[in-house]
Amino acid sequence: MSFQTKTRRAYVNITSQIENYVKESGVQEGLCLVNAMHITASVYINDDESGLLSDYDRWLEKLAPHEPVSDYEHNRTGEDNGDAHLKRQIMGREVVVAITKNCLDLGPWEQIFYGEFDGRRKKRVLVKILGE
Ligand code: ZN
Repeated sequence: MSFQTKTRRAYVNITSQIENYVKESGVQEGLCLVNAMHITASVYINDDESGLLSDYDRWLEKLAPHEPVSDYEHNRTGEDNGDAHLKRQIMGREVVVAITKNCLDLGPWEQIFYGEFDGRRKKRVLVKILGE
């Protein structure tokens, strides 16, 4: 999958797209791995609730504020995404979801999200479906 978000940070629900890949695969029982291919983006599972998404964003900004960019040693390389690397670490790299009867076996409120922390450029997510 590829993404190019319009904003620096974004939280995109990708559950239905992943569900479609599982259907297309025909796999009845197995595992589905979904991982961000970039060190400033995450894939994670949680609730798709607007207040929670806003809470994540404010919490991450409190832990690793984007500005001042000069606060990050990493930014001495000429980049301005020191905060995005730290946010990615907290939100994780990948998720693995069980496939049962050709469906993602998610809990009642579980949704799969792509978390972007240094957007406005092309990024990729890998989806690997294993099973029979
Ligand atoms: Zn960087």
